[in-house]
Amino acid sequence: MGFARKFLSADGLLKVVRHSVGRAKLQTLIGTTYSWEDCVMSGLAIFGFKCASLLQFEGLKTNSMIRRNLSSLYGVQKAPSDTCLRERLDRVPYQELRSPFKKIFSYLQRGKALESYRYLDNHYIISLDGTGQFSSNAVHCKNCCEKHHRSGEVSYYHQMLGAVLVHPDKKVVIPLAPEPIIKADGATKNDCERNASKRLLQDLRREHPHLKIVIVEDSLASNYPHLSLLDSLKMDYIIGVKPGDHKYLFDWIKDLKPSTHQEIDQEGTQHNFKYYHDVPLNDSNYDYRVNVIEYTETKKGKVQKFSWVSKIKVTEKNIFQLMRAARARWHIENETFNTLKNQGYHFEHNFGHGEENLCSVMTMLMMLAFLIDQVQQLCCPVYQKARQQVTRFGILFDLIRSFIELRVWKSFTELLQFVIDVRTESRAPPHESGWIATD
Ligand SMILES: [Zn+2]
Repeated sequence: MGFARKFLSADGLLKVVRHSVGRAKLQTLIGTTYSWEDCVMSGLAIFGFKCASLLQFEGLKTNSMIRRNLSSLYGVQKAPSDTCLRERLDRVPYQELRSPFKKIFSYLQRGKALESYRYLDNHYIISLDGTGQFSSNAVHCKNCCEKHHRSGEVSYYHQMLGAVLVHPDKKVVIPLAPEPIIKADGATKNDCERNASKRLLQDLRREHPHLKIVIVEDSLASNYPHLSLLDSLKMDYIIGVKPGDHKYLFDWIKDLKPSTHQEIDQEGTQHNFKYYHDVPLNDSNYDYRVNVIEYTETKKGKVQKFSWVSKIKVTEKNIFQLMRAARARWHIENETFNTLKNQGYHFEHNFGHGEENLCSVMTMLMMLAFLIDQVQQLCCPVYQKARQQVTRFGILFDLIRSFIELRVWKSFTELLQFVIDVRTESRAPPHESGWIATD
């Protein structure tokens, strides 16, 4: 059996997850009634089957056929009830769920699946951004961030910092372990975000000490503490800057003669670049020097302007690639957060809050389910074929949820093959299949 088929299919990936979270020390935190692995895999199945809530999942689980499928597909020996699952997962530090992300990433590397993601002298482009996931005026936990309104009212919220491997030409993104933005991080919103991003980047470097990384982010990240952190972690960056927020830098380049570069592509889009080397980031960090790219795109009469800073030396040869890498940042919004919100993962839905970790743990599990789907989209032929049979991603999971009530499936491969067969037959003319067309 080939490496990709063995490890980079749903069946292989779920085994990798189950194996990588198997840690005895956590068992003491969650008690002995249920195993830690069973709790993780049950939580993961909620997002794997794209259930709208824990309750929907609970409804599914009372069906004995589905219980048996939970065991054959997810390896769950003894599934906890909805309430028990929430209680158990609430007790576990979310960091314990980083290991499956790392493990799957290393399998992708070994399977050579990431070779085609290399860009700009063999670097990997990692896009970083935050997004909200939960907000309430009443429900809250120890780790909620708080916003105090003038009226005296307090709203509670959770946010997540996502990090995904992107490529300008690819729709499939590879999420790395996200980092919850939590209250313990500091008093102000800025502290919280900055500390979460510090943790995420330090963990990323510790877990992938030799990876050649280019970080792409929006202009809020173009500040000295953040850029110097990236330098100290040996990560390159291409990060937005705005005239309003970086006045000193823009005033400085006004007096310089820029190097320029122009291209018109096959579609007639004009790409105009100006670039500058060795520019001070701002007056209080005068000695911290960056290279600046100003870019104007004219596409069918529509003009868009962008500016970025980077430590990478800009040349005629790499400037177009630098621009494309910087703009690949949007994949975290378009291909990641939008998918999580609108394609069946129910990102903004409250899966239970808990008192301590549940909110963060559920976020990790959701991102893990998304990673498993993305890896299959990249590497697993039977998944790709099944996906092609439906117009929307959500339909695939409507089918899967109904088929797991039919019979016990030995594997996801078998289940996905059934999806392909049913869809192919339902579209074939009646005389070929003997079926009456149903679409
Ligand atoms: Zn909370």
